[in-house]
Amino acid sequence: MSRCLNIGIAGAGIGGLAAGAFLARDGHRVSVFDQFDAAGPVGSGLMLQETGLVILDQLGLRDAAEGLGAPITRLWGVSADTGRSVLDVRYAALRPALHGIGIQRTALFTLLEGAASASGARLVPATRITAANPETGTLVDHQGGAQGPFDLVIDALGVRSVLSSAPAKALPYGALWATLPWPEKGPFDAEALEQRYQAARKMAGIMPSGRARAGDADSLTYFWSIRSEAYEAFRTAPLAHWKDAARALWPETAMLVDQIVDHDQLTFARYRHRTHWPAAEGRLIHIGDSWHAASPQLGQGANMALLDAFALARAVRGGGTASETAALYVRQRAAHVRLYQLMTWAFTPVYQSDSKLLPWVRDWLAAPVSKLWPAPPVLAALVGGGLGSPLKKLGLKAGR
Ligand SMILES: Cc1cc2nc3c(=O)[nH]c(=O)nc-3n(C[C@H](O)[C@H](O)[C@H](O)COP(=O)(O)OP(=O)(O)OC[C@H]3O[C@@H](n4cnc5c(N)ncnc54)[C@H](O)[C@@H]3O)c2cc1C
Repeated sequence: MSRCLNIGIAGAGIGGLAAGAFLARDGHRVSVFDQFDAAGPVGSGLMLQETGLVILDQLGLRDAAEGLGAPITRLWGVSADTGRSVLDVRYAALRPALHGIGIQRTALFTLLEGAASASGARLVPATRITAANPETGTLVDHQGGAQGPFDLVIDALGVRSVLSSAPAKALPYGALWATLPWPEKGPFDAEALEQRYQAARKMAGIMPSGRARAGDADSLTYFWSIRSEAYEAFRTAPLAHWKDAARALWPETAMLVDQIVDHDQLTFARYRHRTHWPAAEGRLIHIGDSWHAASPQLGQGANMALLDAFALARAVRGGGTASETAALYVRQRAAHVRLYQLMTWAFTPVYQSDSKLLPWVRDWLAAPVSKLWPAPPVLAALVGGGLGSPLKKLGLKAGR
């Protein structure tokens, strides 16, 4: 492949913008297409892990992300039935300085969009992609127009990508999400992602999520697990029904629940699980959720999209043909993708399902065992995204 490639990226989300920034910085001609009139993120705060933070560091964005986000040192879940702590993962069990960052999507998006633009990537809004031709390297937009041809086409369209295999139907449980001000005098741990469970049928959580812009007040992301099929009933019932249930599960959150006065303040997210193989065909390469979508139970999806973006740019640097580049890209990422897709698939029903057995095992067998060595550092590595050494495969190291 020639040194300066013409690259089309479908999707200006986390993976697409990061890939755009890396590839444009390497001197390639990059166009990033998104359906939004003004590209922007939808939805909740999310958690950046060490893997994602190392990739942001490669873009010179780690300090800014840490400054806007909130450090998270502990994942802490308590059974509302027994009051017992049934999940207690401390990042420091693996390495003293290890932590995650709770961040608002807007903040992360602004950083990535700035990096992509500054690197010279061309952002093309209001362009809904409907198809791609992997052989010719063209993208088709909603008006039937052809974009390209490109030397490489990157599918970063996310979980509902029209260029990937159809996402599996929604998982039985999704969640309602809201961003709320961090309470000045609350009982919540400012460095913990806290959850309360009733079996696996009910779950509420709070994640410190920093601020959208420097100088703004601190925020938190509140989430409430809900069966996908129950969403319509939630919408049509008086909000008080949900508020009563939320307060009953976790009385201390009453001060948060009281701030929600309209159904629209809670955004519903359906979760889906799908891994698309092959991850590349012809000139078309999938990154992020279009390759591997999963529930956010382990908080990895955005971090994996960032890892994919870096791996792809590194593969392009190899200077091979499209198929050589794709093979190199997949070699760097496939094992980690397989491992975390499996882990997320296995862990999700432990926290979100109608099973009676799984939460029982969680509370009475797994919780005590998780406190015994070597479980604490292994769990910290799992949530930090580091199992399977994804950074080493990219020639990177954890930390700064
Ligand atoms: C509620 C919730 C909480 C989450 N929490 C976490 C977390 O804590 N940590 C974590 O790491 N991950 C989390 N995730 C997962 C994370 O958001 C995704 O894995 C990540 O955004 C995937 O990045 P992406 O670039 O593949 O797709 P996206 O970021 O979804 O970007 C896709 C882009 O493509 C655009 N697009 C889609 N279709 C078209 C089209 N046809 N034409 C043009 N443009 C199109 C969209 O507008 C969007 O801009 C969470 C997800 C949800 C839903």
